[in-house]
Amino acid sequence: MRVLLLNPPFTQGIIRDNYCCHTVKADYVWAPSDLLYISGILRGDAFELAVKDAVMEPESWERLLDFCRDWRPEVIISLTSSASYAEDFAGLERLKAGCGAKVFVIGNLPSFEPRRVLEACAWLDGILHNFLDVKLADFLLDPERPPRTISCRTADGDIHIGDVNGIDRADCPLDVPAPQHHLFPHAKYTTPLALARPQTTVLTATGCPYTCSFCIYSPLKLFTRSLDSLRREFDSCRDNGIKELYVVDPTFNADLRFMRQICELLIEEKHELSWACRIHPDRVSLEDFKLLKAAGCHTVQIGVESRNPDTLEVFAPSKQEQQIRRCFALAKEAGLRTLGYFIIGFPDETREQTLNTIDYAIELDPFFASFSNFMPLNGTASNRAAVESGRIADAFQTFDLNGIPVEFSGSALNGNSREELLRVAYRRFYVRPRQVLKYVRDYKNLPLYVKNGLHVLWHQVIN
Ligand code: SF4
Repeated sequence: MRVLLLNPPFTQGIIRDNYCCHTVKADYVWAPSDLLYISGILRGDAFELAVKDAVMEPESWERLLDFCRDWRPEVIISLTSSASYAEDFAGLERLKAGCGAKVFVIGNLPSFEPRRVLEACAWLDGILHNFLDVKLADFLLDPERPPRTISCRTADGDIHIGDVNGIDRADCPLDVPAPQHHLFPHAKYTTPLALARPQTTVLTATGCPYTCSFCIYSPLKLFTRSLDSLRREFDSCRDNGIKELYVVDPTFNADLRFMRQICELLIEEKHELSWACRIHPDRVSLEDFKLLKAAGCHTVQIGVESRNPDTLEVFAPSKQEQQIRRCFALAKEAGLRTLGYFIIGFPDETREQTLNTIDYAIELDPFFASFSNFMPLNGTASNRAAVESGRIADAFQTFDLNGIPVEFSGSALNGNSREELLRVAYRRFYVRPRQVLKYVRDYKNLPLYVKNGLHVLWHQVIN
C-alpha cells in the first residue's frame, strides 16, 4: 500500500505537531512527531511510504497534485490544525479529487471535533486521534475494524467516532516502533533552542496529568512509552547521525521515575545527544536538573502563564509564583538555560495585570521568553466554557497561538489591545542590554540568536 505522509503547505511558517499549532515567530520548523511515529508504525513490506513536509521544504498544492497523480498514493495521511484548517481542507479536497486516495487527517481541530469535521467534509475518509496507536497499520489494511483511536466512515454510510484517549490499556506502556528517520529532512529542521543539527523530535509520553483549562494536553491522558521502544529510537537517531533532540512531551517530568530512567539510558549508552524539554515547575529538584544536564539537556521550558493568582486559580491551578521562582532558580543553579512561556490576554485580565505578568517575565530572568495569545483551542475546557457562556461563537474558527487574538465578549481587553500588549512584552523583554548581553556572552551560538532575534524583532516588535 502506497501511503503519503503530508505536512501541507501554508502561507507562512507553521508548526502543526502533537495536537498543538501555531504560526512561527522566528525561523524554525521542527520535525512533526505525528508523521515521524506513523512512519515507524507503517514500517514493513506491506507499506511503501513517501514523506512530504511542505512547510520545511515548501511545495505548492499544484506540485503536490502532480506528485499524487504520478505516484498514485492509496492513502494520504495529512496534518492539519485549527490555525490552518480552511486552507488545509481545501487543498486536501483537491488532492483527493485529483488522485482518488483515501484521506485521513491528524490535528487538534479534527481530533476534538470529529463528528462535526466529518459531517462538514464529505471528501474526508477519517481522523487519526492518537498517532502512537500501532493499530493504525492493521486498520489501513483492513478498514472494516477501526480501532478506538480512529474516526471514519463505515461501509453502511454511518460515522464511527474515535477518541484521543482510545488506546487500550493492555498496550501500555506504548511499544512504538522507531520512526523511519531517513525519510525526513532532518538536516533542515531546527528550533531557536537547538544547539546542534541534524535535529529530530522525540515524544516519550503523550498527555499531561495537570488540569490547565486552556491547554490542549490537559484532556489527553498520560500514556508513557516503554523504555525499550525509546532505546530503539535513540539507536535509530545514532544510526541516522542525529545530534539534537526536541522532546515535545507536554511535561517531561510528569512521571519522575520514567524521566530518570530515560536520562540514565542516555548516559549509560553514551548517546551524547543534546536536547531541550518542557517541565512542570511543581516537581523539580536540583538533583533532577543535574541529571537532565548530565544526560545532554541544555534547556528546560517552563509554563509560567501569568502572575495573576486569580488567573492561575482558574486556568492553571497547579502553578504558583513561589514554586515557579524556585524552579527557575534551581534550573539556573544546575547550569540549564530556561525558557518561560507566558500568556497574554486571558479573558478577564486587565491591562495592568498583563503588564504585571510582563514585569514578572523580566524578574524571573529566563534565557528566552515566549509570549502567546490566549486561545480557546478546540477540545479544551476554556473553549467549552467560552462557548457555553456565549463569549465566543460555537463555530469553526481559526485559533493560532501566534495569530490574531480571538475576541471574547465582555472581556477587559479587545483583540487590538492584546496584540499591542504582545508587542510590548517582546520589546520590554528582549530589547534590554542585560538580555542582549546574555546572547553575546554565549558567542558560540550567537549566529543562531541573531537570526532568530531578527525574526522576532521584525514580526513581534516592528511589524
Ligand atoms: S502543565 Fe503544561 S502541558 Fe500540562 S496541562 Fe498545564 S500547560 Fe498543559
